[in-house]
Amino acid sequence: MLERTVRVNASKSYDVIISKGILDRAGEHIKAVKKGLSSAVIVSDDNVFPLYGERLKRTLNDNCISSLEFVVPHGEKSKDIAVFAELLEFLATNKVNKGSVLIALGGGVVGDLTGFAAASYLRGIEFIQIPTTLLAAVDSSVGGKTAVNLKAGKNLAGAFWQPSLVLCDPETFETLSFEELANGISESVKYGVICDRDFFDDIEKNGFESDIEKKIELCVSIKRDIVEADEFDKGKRKLLNLGHTFGHAIEKCSDFTISHGAAVAIGMVAAARASEKLGLAEEKCSDRITALLTSLKLPTSCPYSVESLFDAALSDKKVEDKSISLILIRKIGDSIIYDVPLKELKNIFEKAFS
Ligand code: MG
Repeated sequence: MLERTVRVNASKSYDVIISKGILDRAGEHIKAVKKGLSSAVIVSDDNVFPLYGERLKRTLNDNCISSLEFVVPHGEKSKDIAVFAELLEFLATNKVNKGSVLIALGGGVVGDLTGFAAASYLRGIEFIQIPTTLLAAVDSSVGGKTAVNLKAGKNLAGAFWQPSLVLCDPETFETLSFEELANGISESVKYGVICDRDFFDDIEKNGFESDIEKKIELCVSIKRDIVEADEFDKGKRKLLNLGHTFGHAIEKCSDFTISHGAAVAIGMVAAARASEKLGLAEEKCSDRITALLTSLKLPTSCPYSVESLFDAALSDKKVEDKSISLILIRKIGDSIIYDVPLKELKNIFEKAFS
């Protein structure tokens, strides 16, 4: 069977292996990166574990790896400091040691929770990502950002902690709803807009459905290059936030009824509009992005006023923040980090949304 491998050389070096059916071969791949492994803890949610948990346990078992499972309720509410504490207590009660590994089987919530637990438990144990959503495959499972939410906001407690291996089985995406798939498609288009015009052209010409493994490989390679250049998010990695400042404001205004991917899609169009009106972007840039997203059945506009969007964006910011890094677009495949003083941000929101 064809296995596509992307090697990531960050503070830890590891492979991202993309292959249909790799879930059933996970045990051998895990054994290959951690010789002598005899036990593992699977962290998953109550949607994913019933679908794939037994298959994972079987391949582990076939490779002489016993496993325990910690299954959380699905959804964002499990990306929580209380659930995180429960997971750590579970590991301690079961005397899990550094010779073991955690395996995140699920989407971004499970991956972020497991990664942060792996970063903290015993001051760090190894973990493996098995993303079961397109969004987690092209985005959160690679690059080592882990976190849980606090009452005051999302991702406020976390760590940079790279996985030891990422196994991506696109067959697991077959059970996703259109909306869940759209989240991943939106973030994939984002990579094209940031730095790969050919990829954008390819999706424009051929749609997203064909050759999905190749597309995942390309997205992971783009993310790899950015993470290798700036693992700790001090510069270039900010490019990955294209559409996200506007997008987060949209998610907030909708009381999170608009999904992340849909909000990022609208946010990319907003970024393109603002870029055009600032004289940064080539002509028709926002038209092309709008047309592509529309053809992929993603939204490109929202009903909220500039005022409420701006207020939502500001509510994230600390009083000390004097400026914000926005990602703007020069042309498709060429985006830049643009530092905006907070007092000029309103003006940019007006350009973006009117
Ligand atoms: Mg995102």
